[in-house]
Amino acid sequence: MKEINKRLFTNGAVYVLYTEDNYPIEVTDTFLPYYTKDAIEKKQNMLTSYDIGNRGERYLIGISCMSGCPVKCKFCATGKLKKWRNLTAEEIVEQVKFITQKNVEFPFTEAKEHKINYTRMGEPFLNIDNVRRAVEKVEFVYPGTHHYISTVGIKGSDFSWIKENITLQVSLHSLDEERRNELIPYPNKMTIEELGQIRTQSNLKTTVNLTLVDEADFDIEKLKKYFDPKYFFIKLSPINVNDISEKNGLGKGIIEGVNLV
Ligand code: SF4
Repeated sequence: MKEINKRLFTNGAVYVLYTEDNYPIEVTDTFLPYYTKDAIEKKQNMLTSYDIGNRGERYLIGISCMSGCPVKCKFCATGKLKKWRNLTAEEIVEQVKFITQKNVEFPFTEAKEHKINYTRMGEPFLNIDNVRRAVEKVEFVYPGTHHYISTVGIKGSDFSWIKENITLQVSLHSLDEERRNELIPYPNKMTIEELGQIRTQSNLKTTVNLTLVDEADFDIEKLKKYFDPKYFFIKLSPINVNDISEKNGLGKGIIEGVNLV
């Protein structure tokens, strides 16, 4: 894989890599102070001081499981890519190696928390065989990694393998089914009620991610009805504004805090 571009932040970087056959993929390398991990107790995970920590604390690698994505969420820049393809397990693992080799002074497995977010380009459950093989391979090379798999909820998905240090995030974005269908225009996905029935054996609760575009997308009664707090953790995220989200008139969303500084 070739590095084509990068954007540096105080606490990390976003890289654009090209596969051997010239498909672009995005990989992120970020770190945060350890206290931001305790979002449940603190009710938020924003930075509360200028101390941004280092990769010995929370070392987070965001990887892609596809180049492009057929789901085409209305706020996602991936949608502007004209073509897409699944990545192989080797290409997924290579992204992790790419980042760890950039930071040899901070061995990945020695961080207090070392986590891989399957949250960049692509829907993991539409490339599930490669993603599962990649999880196994990463676990072999970097034991104890926390794997955080984010999905829009593809109908018929098997969640039985989501256990222990593997955690699931489901993208909800709106508690109005019709509005959710607009924001995530992929037809073969689970309903809000079906998402609420997901149970895993992860060490952590399943995250319900709400990238809130409008206040009207939030409905506390439906949230309480479908998502039992015993099994779900609710996360509110900002929109990463990009040309696709702007073209679709989604603005900045209603959440202001970001942890890329
Ligand atoms: S599933 Fe993820 S990568 Fe695909 S369009 Fe939606 S947000 Fe983007």
